[in-house]
Amino acid sequence: MARVFAGSTLVIASHNPGKVREIADLLAPLDCEFVPAATLGLPEPEETARTFSGNAEIKALAAARGSGHPALADDSGLAVAALDGAPGVFSARWAGPGKDFDHAMRRVNETVVERDRSVGAPVSRAARFVCALSLAWPDGHVETVEGTVCGHLAWPPRGTGGFGYDPMFVPDGHDLTFGELAPERKHAISHRAAAFRRLCGTVVPVR
Ligand code: IMP
Repeated sequence: MARVFAGSTLVIASHNPGKVREIADLLAPLDCEFVPAATLGLPEPEETARTFSGNAEIKALAAARGSGHPALADDSGLAVAALDGAPGVFSARWAGPGKDFDHAMRRVNETVVERDRSVGAPVSRAARFVCALSLAWPDGHVETVEGTVCGHLAWPPRGTGGFGYDPMFVPDGHDLTFGELAPERKHAISHRAAAFRRLCGTVVPVR
């Protein structure tokens, strides 16, 4: 039986403004105050795990212990089938220290095109976004859920909405990229929305 969140303050353990914005939107029905980790001056811990869930737990635990409040962390990324799941947990790192996602998207596309060349035929453009959400308490208890959305890579990137790899990802059943879809349409089908549905069904009671 999962532990249930019953507090009035929830720390959002992310320093990524795009994610903080989406998490606050998705949790809007929850009657509590959201405090971004950056507002509390909490440091970003090193993400040393090999899985999205492992890294989400590291970030949530660090923020819960550092703040004395329950903390919610998201670890997410793009997994390309033809690249054996890369960039995966390295999705943020492929953008380099300047967090340049034009560069990261070009790198994904070029790596897939290199794979076409080495195989001698076009490889699959299938990809998925994965989101692990961890809710941690200051006593070290953690609850973790995951959500995914399947789709394919588009090139060149299209759209200016969302963040990160959104302009090069077309979710299944759609012709537009996440960068072109309106935020509410992305929220209805995204990996983050799927993970939040799981979280709200178990750990976080929403009015
Ligand atoms: P991390 O979870 O902070 O390690 O960063 C994950 C990275 O994956 C982000 O910086 C984005 O580049 C990418 N990512 C995660 N979720 C999304 C999304 O919803 N759209 C686009 N890119 C995403």
